[in-house]
Amino acid sequence: MSEAPEAPLTPEELAERKMRFLFGLRSKGVTEARVLAAMERIDRGDFVRGIFAARAYEDMPLPIACGQTISQPSVVGLMTQALEVGPRDTVLEIGTGSGYQAAVLAHLARRVYTVDRHRRLVREAEALFQRLDLTNIVARAGDGSRGLSEQAPFDRIIVTAAAEDPPGPLLSQLKIGGIMVLPVGQSDTVQSLIRVKRLETGFDYEELRPVRFVPLVEGMASD
Ligand code: SAH
Repeated sequence: MSEAPEAPLTPEELAERKMRFLFGLRSKGVTEARVLAAMERIDRGDFVRGIFAARAYEDMPLPIACGQTISQPSVVGLMTQALEVGPRDTVLEIGTGSGYQAAVLAHLARRVYTVDRHRRLVREAEALFQRLDLTNIVARAGDGSRGLSEQAPFDRIIVTAAAEDPPGPLLSQLKIGGIMVLPVGQSDTVQSLIRVKRLETGFDYEELRPVRFVPLVEGMASD
């Protein structure tokens, strides 16, 4: 397959695109200064490869390796905002994918653990974290529907693939006072983003907005 070579962007064009990217996030409701600052520091262009790299600053999900997707930036921003991450928090992300969401979280949290069922995605994301000097992210290959019991409990949990219900192991690995943000839904097309708070006495559920994510699949992938 051949593709037309694209002229590299001038520094001015790149700056202009990034400004529009941040403006677009604000207009979709990503208004918290800390979240916007983290998203300004992490260049989404580093997480998108090949022919889709030119679209890295558009507010749309894009294909990555292993048939998965990097989420839409405004959704990354809104989920990060809903997670209310503090600088002392330990965060668990299920669904490393490109590593973009984990990289944004790394600027807000003390430590980020991220898990994916595709070893290849974990390997590639780890290499990228190293190159970008994001030393507070630990990436692991595993079935994230079981959480990461060795490192539990977590202050915050974010799931970037949709399950029918919040997986039990994740609920039990959330600290009291902790927050989990995840898409839930019975089909690929109708899903809601929900926020779960763990209280002393149980869980509080809040529905945030409709979303569309790839499914949370149990077990490891073959690649
Ligand atoms: N957060 C990612 C986007 C994730 S796409 C980013 O910023 O780019 C959803 C990811 O969830 C995919 O990479 C998929 O492999 C992963 N996934 C699906 N089911 C999983 C499971 N049970 N455990 C871990 N990862 C899972």
